[in-house]
Amino acid sequence: MFDSHCHLDRIPHRPDAALARARTAGVKQFLIAGVEPAQWRSALLWAQPGVFLSFGLHPWWVSEHPMDVEEATANLELFLAEHRPQTHAIGETGLDFRRATGSTIQDAQRCSFERHIAAARRLELPIVLHVVNAHTEALRMLRSCELPAKRGVVHSFSGSAETAAEYNRLGFRISFSGAITHPKRHKLHRAAASVPDDMMLVETDSPDQTPWERHPAPNEPAFLIDVISRMAILRDQSPEEIARITTENALRLFECDERRELQTAPTI
Ligand SMILES: [Zn+2]
Repeated sequence: MFDSHCHLDRIPHRPDAALARARTAGVKQFLIAGVEPAQWRSALLWAQPGVFLSFGLHPWWVSEHPMDVEEATANLELFLAEHRPQTHAIGETGLDFRRATGSTIQDAQRCSFERHIAAARRLELPIVLHVVNAHTEALRMLRSCELPAKRGVVHSFSGSAETAAEYNRLGFRISFSGAITHPKRHKLHRAAASVPDDMMLVETDSPDQTPWERHPAPNEPAFLIDVISRMAILRDQSPEEIARITTENALRLFECDERRELQTAPTI
């Protein structure tokens, strides 16, 4: 199983033990999503076979630092040039209008998003998208720019089947998280049932988004099995099939070549 979006580096208590528990449970690959400049270098310490990294500026960070976007995105590009062998994606980036109601902050999120798209295009990397309460605007922006060849993934998808299909049409995969384990998220359940096999990924987003039946425990990658089991029910496929397809999709999207990881020791 491949946990296509987690924050192993932010699990508060013994993240190394959480990684070991996940491996025992059969989760063998992980993508650690980038959130802010202070976290990029510490994330490098996690680079190892099976643990892949993405770097970016989370829309929440942008909301808190709207005046720093230009400098931070310039620093991101320098950082990526220096650490290209350890980089498998760019992000998180995107729009979160639940956390940004004023136009200054929304504009800062748009500016950061545009710069991440341009960097992904230049560096030929996929993008990890965080979009909440802003799918219409995110889709408008994606349609009006030149997209990176590898496109990317909408992480912890929260929209409808129709919205998922719009992202799919642009070449973006959809990643489902513990949100689908909530019994009342019917619109999201329909989306999870509708995405084509080759466009779906699964994730925990741990330590956030604990699956329904694990509450109140903090989330961890070992709980990916809950997301996969729920996907299997919603899609009328076996958990093994969901696990195999989503692992293959993530390995392909993030170009996870284990040999490349072993050859390149991280430089910190
Ligand atoms: Zn995340």
